[in-house]
Amino acid sequence: MSLNSHIEWTDATWNPVRGCTKISPGCKHCYAETFAERFRGVKGHPYEQGFDLRLVPEKLTEPFAWRSPKLVFVNSMSDLFHELVPDSYIVAVARVMVAAKWHTYQVLTKRSQRLHDLLNTKLRFAAEQPHIWWGVSVEDKKYGLPRIEALRNARASVRFLSVEPLLEDLGKMNLRGVDWVIVGGESGAGARPMKKEWVLDLRNQCERNGVAFFFKQWGGVRKKAAGRRLAGKTYDEFPERVTNPVMSVTDCALAVGEIEAQLSAGDVFPLSLLKGQGREEVCC
Ligand code: SF4
Repeated sequence: MSLNSHIEWTDATWNPVRGCTKISPGCKHCYAETFAERFRGVKGHPYEQGFDLRLVPEKLTEPFAWRSPKLVFVNSMSDLFHELVPDSYIVAVARVMVAAKWHTYQVLTKRSQRLHDLLNTKLRFAAEQPHIWWGVSVEDKKYGLPRIEALRNARASVRFLSVEPLLEDLGKMNLRGVDWVIVGGESGAGARPMKKEWVLDLRNQCERNGVAFFFKQWGGVRKKAAGRRLAGKTYDEFPERVTNPVMSVTDCALAVGEIEAQLSAGDVFPLSLLKGQGREEVCC
């Protein structure tokens, strides 16, 4: 887990999976890929294998070590619902989120169909927990808007959209059942432009529908200079957060011990899956 994330809408990141593959135009300048590939081949570095998808079971229990409540972005460096992540591993991640419930989790995916299918079946125990927010990325009409439908039709207590990078005018959106919308422009070299009127339209739709609105950034090549004010204002709205008691240190240790035992026994996922990852043991 990484404390003090630089991402404006979260406190910390937790990556029990690393790496991913591109799936739609929003992935073109994936920051996670750029970051991870910088360290490919660097011995001992967490991203020694670049952006290749890997399970990271030694990270699974990390939220238990975090004693004060945090907003936790789950898999900032991957996509939890990637087709190569076994269902049983996703269930294990969800079990940790349900148990370490003093945090608020933000789970964001572009694999909305799998999110939908699992929330309505194997993840039902986690779907309607108000401290777990489920979200999809929406970068354009073709790929993004259908994801909203999949999310809406999934059991979820809190649903959100990450409209970043916003690549075109999304038109009139159906925001029924959506609790939170984050909007941002692309940043870095080659960033695709975002027009002010697209953002204002989204803000207005959120206001009309009573949806919390968070404007993350204008982006562009000089992201810092472009800032994050919209029409003279900073939009920092969030859905309502629930407060749950922090588990005692003793109970945390018991929970962690139990999960580690299940991992070592191969009950969470077949340990053979780790062989191709250059790691054969669970090192918790
Ligand atoms: S789905 Fe997300 S993490 Fe995966 S390649 Fe696309 S932008 Fe990157």
